[in-house]
Amino acid sequence: MKTWSQQTREEGKTLGLVPTMGYLHEGHLSLAHKSLSTCDRTVVSIFVNPKQFGPNEDLDTYPRDLESDRLELERLGVDALFLPTSEDMYPEEFQTYVHVEEITDKLCGESRRELFRGVTTLVLKLFHIVKPYSAFFGEKDRQQLEVIRKMVDDLNLDIQIVGLPIVREPDGLAMSSRNQYLGNTERKTAKSLNEALQKAQQLIAQGESSAETIRSRIRTIIEREGQAQVDYISVCDPKRFEELEEIQGKTMIALAVHVGKARLIDNCLIERI
Ligand code: AMP
Repeated sequence: MKTWSQQTREEGKTLGLVPTMGYLHEGHLSLAHKSLSTCDRTVVSIFVNPKQFGPNEDLDTYPRDLESDRLELERLGVDALFLPTSEDMYPEEFQTYVHVEEITDKLCGESRRELFRGVTTLVLKLFHIVKPYSAFFGEKDRQQLEVIRKMVDDLNLDIQIVGLPIVREPDGLAMSSRNQYLGNTERKTAKSLNEALQKAQQLIAQGESSAETIRSRIRTIIEREGQAQVDYISVCDPKRFEELEEIQGKTMIALAVHVGKARLIDNCLIERI
């Protein structure tokens, strides 16, 4: 990978990197499309990163379908698929981690303590191996995107970070590799995350400015379906992820909800002038 990326740079070509954990869907492919249309060469990495899973999480059962992913990427015209093994990335003696402070303690970081340290460590390693000009991430994981932006800023990395909008199923559910854990009735419950976000945006547009009212309306919509176990409902500042009382200026509404075996996340950004 290093040799190929160096050759690409020597040819004066720009390189785009799309890091993923595979089991690709249209959300992932939208990132690859953007890279293909803005960079000369595109690398997609697939690596189910053990360092970002907690001990009771779904590392072993995380969905994988390498053959179908490979065909899809070939069809799109992606130039390289980077498939490191766990041993490549984390040999036995491995002991160096990248930790972004504060903003990783909130939201997903609060219930998944290993998550962001694992993500930033892996992404920094990928950046060093591939040395991309641009790297593409989805706003579905908006906190992850901000954590990566912070790392890039704080560590003076010369990489352009591009965030792209959430791609949804026709019924509004944000696409996710984990959606395949959902049975039919769970799927109905899962839909309520986006419905709750839509309702919240509507209430805010109509003048509601209390963050607590919005949190509680969201909770009612999600819990109405049954089978949902809320991890968090947040109405917060979109950079620092501190909870708000009053909705003003740029605000993020973010949710994490367990539905059956799946932990689903969704979010939206609103701007109130
Ligand atoms: P993952 O394979 O889940 O680690 O995701 C790899 C990248 O794809 C991350 O940058 C995600 O934010 C992005 N991604 C995942 N789902 C979506 C989606 N529905 N829409 C846009 N981007 C997504």
